[in-house]
Amino acid sequence: MKFKDIYGQEGTKTYLKSLIERNRFPHAILFSGKKGCGKLALALATVAYIQCRNRIDGDSCGECPSCRKSFQLIHPDIHYVFPTYSKDTKSQPSSAFYEKWRERIKMHPYFDLNDWMDEIEGAKKKANIPKVSLLEMNKNFSLRIYEGNKKISIIWQSELMEKEGNRILKLIEEPPENSVFIFLTENLDQILSTIISRCQVVKIPPFTDDDLKLYLSEKMEVDPLKKDQIVQLADGNMHEMIKLSEYIQTDVYAEVFDWLRLSFKGNALDIINWSETFLKKSNHEQIYFYKYGLKLFKQFLMSYSLPREEIRLTDESFQILENLKAVIDHEKLFQITALLNDCIRNRERNANVKLQMINSSLTLHKLMTGK
Ligand SMILES: [Zn+2]
Repeated sequence: MKFKDIYGQEGTKTYLKSLIERNRFPHAILFSGKKGCGKLALALATVAYIQCRNRIDGDSCGECPSCRKSFQLIHPDIHYVFPTYSKDTKSQPSSAFYEKWRERIKMHPYFDLNDWMDEIEGAKKKANIPKVSLLEMNKNFSLRIYEGNKKISIIWQSELMEKEGNRILKLIEEPPENSVFIFLTENLDQILSTIISRCQVVKIPPFTDDDLKLYLSEKMEVDPLKKDQIVQLADGNMHEMIKLSEYIQTDVYAEVFDWLRLSFKGNALDIINWSETFLKKSNHEQIYFYKYGLKLFKQFLMSYSLPREEIRLTDESFQILENLKAVIDHEKLFQITALLNDCIRNRERNANVKLQMINSSLTLHKLMTGK
């Protein structure tokens, strides 16, 4: 991956490149940032740039043997550590999943832990970075550098090393010459302080709306009318935005508004029909429907105290919410939010989808009408 393949994040890219160019790249660095800010993409571009033999225009060339191997994720001096799960009580090392790791990254590097655990068929298992993966990492650094400029490890979701992280303290403290460790985390507070203190921490900001919009226009096929809404919903999170554009074929806010209207009227037959249609959606779409509802009401709540330009809604949706203020006051707003949170929790636990939709519509009816 080249730096130019990452949309935006210009400040971070410039900073990382300048460290490399001035030969000041630290041997241990930690990228910290919220989910979906592109930490892994930045790490991949960074290691390709470090190893490239023929850097050009402030980026890796993409042509030299090093770049070809970095981009294919088969460079012998770039090692990856990521979460796995235990099988039959036996820990599985990262190396057992290298092939899947390459495949997943080649799709795009903006996946999250859930996507990854799905990918390696461990969705219901506890994800962690076991001792065996860190021993592999230790061993890797005891080997000579084959062909790169440095020997590098990228440790993705590194908070999942938990206490096992102590096993690599000595390695980070007294690294072999030309070693680089790049830790990535979305939960800095869960990383051992002994690791943090040995790293330079780089905070990665979320993507801007413009970066997300550009990615959406150039990489995804999305109805132009939905672009603004998807970008607003994603709120700087590239992972969320890609998910949204993959799963959502309909205008979600319009659907949430339909549900509110229908529940307000409280016609039993309409509610049952609606619940049956809802049942036909995919699991992801069902969960996202409730999540959108939650986001919508969050904006609703904020609209009481913030100016219009800070409310992440299209004019049309904003107007509908303004009208809704006649039947939904502050107190009801909190109750609806709690209801939606329950819906998400129940849905994730695979509760009866149709029954839950009927019940929550009736609860909503009571809340809005007071009857
Ligand atoms: Zn190159």
